[in-house]
Amino acid sequence: MAIRIGIPRALAYYSFYPQWKTFFEELGAEVVLSPPTNKHIVNEGIRNTVTDACIPIKVYHGHVASLADKVDYVFVPRIVGITRDATLCPKFLGLPDMIKSSVRGIPPLLTPRFDIRDGRFAPVKAWIKVARVLGAGYRSALQAYRKSVKVRQYYEELLTSRMLPDEAMLLLDRWTASLKGEKQRLSDVKSSVASARASSVDTAESQGSNIRLAVVGYPYMIYDGFVNCGLLDTLKRFGASILTPEMVPAKVRQAQAAKQPKYLFWHYSNQVIRAVYYFFQENMVDGVIHLTAFACGPDAMVDKLLELDCQKHSRIPYLSLCLDEHTGRAGIITRLEAFTDMLVRKRGGKR
Ligand code: SF4
Repeated sequence: MAIRIGIPRALAYYSFYPQWKTFFEELGAEVVLSPPTNKHIVNEGIRNTVTDACIPIKVYHGHVASLADKVDYVFVPRIVGITRDATLCPKFLGLPDMIKSSVRGIPPLLTPRFDIRDGRFAPVKAWIKVARVLGAGYRSALQAYRKSVKVRQYYEELLTSRMLPDEAMLLLDRWTASLKGEKQRLSDVKSSVASARASSVDTAESQGSNIRLAVVGYPYMIYDGFVNCGLLDTLKRFGASILTPEMVPAKVRQAQAAKQPKYLFWHYSNQVIRAVYYFFQENMVDGVIHLTAFACGPDAMVDKLLELDCQKHSRIPYLSLCLDEHTGRAGIITRLEAFTDMLVRKRGGKR
């Protein structure tokens, strides 16, 4: 029977899940993903974590707890550095320790440490160690790693074609399933990715919305529809076209770094700021909505910086929404409605 690896659908899941899944499946493991966030998961997270944690960390604990009796290992990586100019926030760095000390009755954790600042081969070395725990040798680990990196590249391409993570993951799942059946090589799907990309952009542009919004924040705030009370769906219903930081290619975001008076210490925070600078530069948005987590240290900085930048650069309207487990759907809808109405009026239009 295949080894079952549990992956919590939270935090870095939105950035890396296709890569992680590919790696484990290539080694013959079965990947078990926790369900979408729901009330029970949030409650379990609150019960299992320290009280002053931010909502994404509480939610992560709940997802781990939901996997407890379903898998042989839970994958809880210690992600320290994805780029060389910043680390992730301290809670990411301490995540395996927090989980070990807080969530009872869980199977052993797989906790590789990923830090690109340890050298360009550091990630592959970390993955090879993981493979060893699963009983796989060097060659198969290396093959699985290479394929997983390719899948991650395709995933990022799909995101920059303005797909949301769920849509991109679904497409990749279909393709990888067809690869298994028809023994195609991964490179064969690249053209399919390209055509999906073209049609996705077409769809985004043909919506013809008159409000263009940047919805920024950390991926686990923007794309977890339970935590943000269905914010993206609500905005789409209001006819807004939406841009998120992940829709800007990594290189393009990096090119905006020179505009930062000072880099922030935290990876995701830098990505948010740089994406917003790009949206301003290209005059792509009429308003900015920032989703911030209550009790998030980095956000205390990012939120103020964004507010000032919106005023300074183009007097672009800015809405900051602070979310926690008590946030109510009605309150969010009311504020979004007021914000989008104001944008429509500013442009001299009618809803
Ligand atoms: S960056 Fe903020 S929201 Fe994200 S895990 Fe750290 S403290 Fe929580």
